[in-house]
Amino acid sequence: MDDGEWEDVDNIPLHLRPPVGSKYLTIVDVTGVHFVLVRPCQCLNAERYHMQLFLAKLCPSTFDKPSTAFTFSVLDDFLRDNVECGTSGMNYYSKLRRVTSNVFPHLVVDRYRELLRVAWQWCLLKLLKWSGFQDNKNCTKKGDLVIFCAACPQPGINIDPAANLDDWKYSRTVVMDGNFKVEHMHERRPDDQVWLMDGRGFMVANPPYQAYLKATPHIMEKSSCNNHKAISQASASRGKLNSMGVGATACAQHGCFYPHSVVDFQKGER
Ligand SMILES: [Zn+2]
Ligand SMILES: [Zn+2]
Repeated sequence: MDDGEWEDVDNIPLHLRPPVGSKYLTIVDVTGVHFVLVRPCQCLNAERYHMQLFLAKLCPSTFDKPSTAFTFSVLDDFLRDNVECGTSGMNYYSKLRRVTSNVFPHLVVDRYRELLRVAWQWCLLKLLKWSGFQDNKNCTKKGDLVIFCAACPQPGINIDPAANLDDWKYSRTVVMDGNFKVEHMHERRPDDQVWLMDGRGFMVANPPYQAYLKATPHIMEKSSCNNHKAISQASASRGKLNSMGVGATACAQHGCFYPHSVVDFQKGER
């Protein structure tokens, strides 16, 4: 039986029911999903509604007439869980539902898509802040939003620009390797995709990379080794995957990735 068939609004516990007849915001926090009555300041010199929410440490899911907002702490918590525990947006939202109501998690409102969208915007805002940008108009250079190794010699950053770079002490060692676990599916609606920071992080900019892939002929190699992933994947079919792994360049001494150097593998180490 379908969930919707026997769920009656009257059966939803009071604390999970949205308030009737008043303007409320759905606020998603680490403590769960709440409905809170919010009235914006209407004074003449008041900030716009979404800015007022930001000032209250709430990140709205849309900028005109927001009805859902995420607290800064839930967004930070999601990014940390995502990085350290590999938590997906779906799992994280399920956890929030469970935190809100341990008995009726399925009755908690669904803000999963909003979480995904806002989390990406939050990530970009954080990167812009850490890199000293006020907005993303001035941030146009490749790899602008990420930092490279602090110890590797870089003229103008930690060594004199006039120094002789041929000196042995200024040499850098670079390693390149691939990861075949990070697969990326084809987008369902590629036209709807918005690139927030194309080429400004560790990944290479997409349009020039696609142009390069098209322009480079690929020669299939026959290998005598029968279970080398880089080779066996090269002849596998891509199916629904957009990319089958990533390849990156890092400094050998400290293991820091080079900004604007990570590429998607199309097949094997191609
Ligand atoms: Zn006011
Ligand atoms: Zn280094």
